[in-house]
Amino acid sequence: MSSEVRVRFAPSPTGVLHIGGVRTALYNFLFAKKHGGKFILRIEDTDQARFVDGAEQYIKDSLAWCGIEIDEGTDQGGDYAPYKQSERKHIYKKYAQQMIDAGTAYYAFDTSEELDEMREALKKAKANSLNYNSITRNNMKNSLTLSSEEVNRRINSGEPYVIRIKVPAKEDIRLNDMIRGWVNVHSSTMDDKVLMKSDGMPTYHLANVVDDYLMKITHVIRGEEWLPSAPLHVLLYRYLGWEDSMPQFAHLPLLLKPDGNGKLSKRDAAKHGFPIFPMQWKVTEEDASLKGFKEEGYLSAAFVNFLALLGWNSGTENEIFSLEELIEAFTIERVSKAGAKFDIDKAIWFNQQYIRNLEISELASLLLDQTAKEGFDCDQQKAQAISALLQKRIDFTHELLSKGKYFFEVPSTYVEKVVRKKWDDIARNVFNTFSNQLANADNMVAEGFQSKLELAVETHEVKVGMIMQILRVAITGESGGPDLMRVMEVLGTKEVADRIKKAINAFDQATNNE
Ligand code: GLU
Repeated sequence: MSSEVRVRFAPSPTGVLHIGGVRTALYNFLFAKKHGGKFILRIEDTDQARFVDGAEQYIKDSLAWCGIEIDEGTDQGGDYAPYKQSERKHIYKKYAQQMIDAGTAYYAFDTSEELDEMREALKKAKANSLNYNSITRNNMKNSLTLSSEEVNRRINSGEPYVIRIKVPAKEDIRLNDMIRGWVNVHSSTMDDKVLMKSDGMPTYHLANVVDDYLMKITHVIRGEEWLPSAPLHVLLYRYLGWEDSMPQFAHLPLLLKPDGNGKLSKRDAAKHGFPIFPMQWKVTEEDASLKGFKEEGYLSAAFVNFLALLGWNSGTENEIFSLEELIEAFTIERVSKAGAKFDIDKAIWFNQQYIRNLEISELASLLLDQTAKEGFDCDQQKAQAISALLQKRIDFTHELLSKGKYFFEVPSTYVEKVVRKKWDDIARNVFNTFSNQLANADNMVAEGFQSKLELAVETHEVKVGMIMQILRVAITGESGGPDLMRVMEVLGTKEVADRIKKAINAFDQATNNE
């Protein structure tokens, strides 16, 4: 590519940033970095009515958590500052005026009642569209139908007005989307969209195009929901005389519900209890259901990897990519046209893979944080040993403690089914022999426990296999888990002996009561 690649992520701070928005940011970032270009964050806050406090910070925090670094933006500054549209208000007017002067835009004075009336009349007449367009504009109050004296009089007397684009009556508007190929729209289906509102603020369309031009954006990579607006943007580039520097467009596929039927929504997340937001969003109490991947225990690298593959593939079997590797492998050509089904099991799978690739010492320090918070005693060595045992058994790092509680607490309940099935005189005898031997023994490694247990089962002429499950329940309360000898090694001889003795009583009681 000849000139420097410059892309932008241009969110409106109107609330929580949906995972689809994060993916848009990620693809922009990957594309920019792949081509040695710049990733720009532009805050599109011209719609003051929809402004939500905290949303801008949330967007920035989410990008930071994902490792998406911003080259130019509201905090970073840059040659094209300011990067917030509300601070660029003075800029847009000039371009709307330029279009008025050229006859490609016009003033319109219609009140909202008059607009409603127009739509009602069109509905009654069973018109194909309810647009303000090359036909309907002739019956409305605008600078195309009113004399210039009348227009001036209205403006000078302070009457509210908007500025609309004058879409041509019959023309094919074409654009070559990097993902979709040629997109053809007939201008008769388009609306004379408002460019400047009566409050003097530009609409999204005008501000977006003006800023992309002034900020020298080379590629507009955004969600598919903006594809219908793209022909209008093409017209704006043409009317402003900027066609030669029009960016290339790439409209990303939708994120779909898990079953593929329709767009992924907040309601799906609430219904299935999975997160669809990068981080938790909690501005009001009712937001409690807006869970974040971060708080749910996803590692940011796993989340980013998962996100990258929602609508893109590398063309190889490999699915595990670090951010660096994604930058290397990413191409817009491999973004699919079809919507991408959101599959939370896949997200969990990525998290597992990333946990498996963590250093034991990293897991250990996470566990130490968790135990400190819960007030459990734990040292580095114990944390390392537990982490090594649980690394392959957890989906989320917080499960180090939740699935390993028994390393810190004597079980208070036991898996009943196993107790009922496996607790008998032989088991009791083996338990007694084994625990007596341990009570007086020094601490030992897993193999030591193994040989002591073998001795105990031999004494009572049974097989180790017959005793293992009930022994695990006695020591951990649970019927499954990591290598029991290693669990015992972590707990130590005295603790194991005590737990077995406690379990003998508990199991006797449970089975006597039946
Ligand atoms: N402000 C728009 C949004 O909220 C930006 C769309 C675009 O990238 O052009 O998504």
